[in-house]
Amino acid sequence: MKIEIITTGDELMSGLTLDSNFNWAGDLLSNLGFDLAYHTTVGDIKERITEVFDIALNRARAVIVTGGLGPTDDDLTAEVAAEYFGSTLELNQEAYAKLENWMKERGRTLNESNKKQAYLPACSTMLDNKWGTAPGFSIESKGVIFFFLPGVPREFHEMMRHYVVPELHNRAQDRMKRDMRLVKIFGLPESEVAERLKGLQMEGVTLGYRSHRPEIHLRVCAFADTDSQAKSLTQNYIDEINARIGDYVFTSQGELLEEVVGRLLTEKSLMLATAESCTGGLLASRITDVPGSSAYFLEGVITYSNEAKENMLGVSASLLEAHGAVSAPVVEAMARGVRELSGSDIGIGISGVAGPGGGTAEKPVGTVYIGFDAEGSDTISKKYLFGGSRDQIKNMSSETALDIIMKFLITKI
Ligand code: ATP
Repeated sequence: MKIEIITTGDELMSGLTLDSNFNWAGDLLSNLGFDLAYHTTVGDIKERITEVFDIALNRARAVIVTGGLGPTDDDLTAEVAAEYFGSTLELNQEAYAKLENWMKERGRTLNESNKKQAYLPACSTMLDNKWGTAPGFSIESKGVIFFFLPGVPREFHEMMRHYVVPELHNRAQDRMKRDMRLVKIFGLPESEVAERLKGLQMEGVTLGYRSHRPEIHLRVCAFADTDSQAKSLTQNYIDEINARIGDYVFTSQGELLEEVVGRLLTEKSLMLATAESCTGGLLASRITDVPGSSAYFLEGVITYSNEAKENMLGVSASLLEAHGAVSAPVVEAMARGVRELSGSDIGIGISGVAGPGGGTAEKPVGTVYIGFDAEGSDTISKKYLFGGSRDQIKNMSSETALDIIMKFLITKI
């Protein structure tokens, strides 16, 4: 069943608004295994919208239209739909009553512009919008179902989930079952991943690459007659990926690296603390983006200046003087300092030159040291030379620190 998405609005055509409704719906529908065949964007011009409806009617079996249902003059969708499907706009009493109620609940009165939203094509079925004012509607013509949904992203998402997806499921019962898994890799260049996975083919399974710097994401997708067959196909394929590059795969369930680290810390009942310089708290921010991180994250300090490293972490002035802030002994002292002072099991220290200025021949931009200290283990550190912009160097540093913690937790019994 071919599906087409039509997103409408001058603001999309002019590039002022990113077409996030399409991105979101594309991801949702392809993950559910539907055949999203076409995507069209059109401005607020009657003739062009009509033209686009006509093309969709002739090539798709389900069409999802977003935007243009609002109260303003450039909201033309309902009017064009009525005309195109040989109908007229009529006041929908149910939609009107709901609109009145919505306004009343918010202490507002209904004006003529608002009332416009309750006029729907007579040939349509209303889709109640519980998340906003503009009701949606659907129209069936020549075996093709058209859904008309509001453009406001939250309303669009909810109405897709509540009305469109269940109806698409009804209409596509004979479609093949699909299983999709997202495998994430860190630490191997894309060319090396491609080299190692060369020739890996399995009937019914497709592999898609997506560079998500500094990670590489692989979308493994299988089609089969039953859900369990599709699941076992993806699992077999992922087993083979693991056999070839398993050391670099940090999840085959689509998790974020910080989520994997959080899960492992929780499993092992260990606490973490961080001391950051060049990353300015990015590592702590990523760790605390994960709900429930208070169970394993004790504290994060940003010790940007030498004084802060001395005062807050006990890094000695002589060490800073002798080696400089960007050095192995200093990040080791930072990791040890934050671990001991916070009372956590693991401490991380990061210091580097994020650029674009500040590089020297000995320590060029991108030089980053990461120190690691764990209760009962030797303090260690490693030097890295990352490329790219300031943002990319900071991001790569936080990613590498998470990777170090993860590898330690995996090997720790
Ligand atoms: P409303 O009744 O709330 O006005 P509507 O159906 O008329 O809804 P629009 O007026 O077209 O929708 O857009 C409402 C808001 O949603 C605007 O801020 C617009 O930028 C945003 N929007 C519309 N279409 C998209 C899209 N495809 N992706 C992301 N945002 C969108």
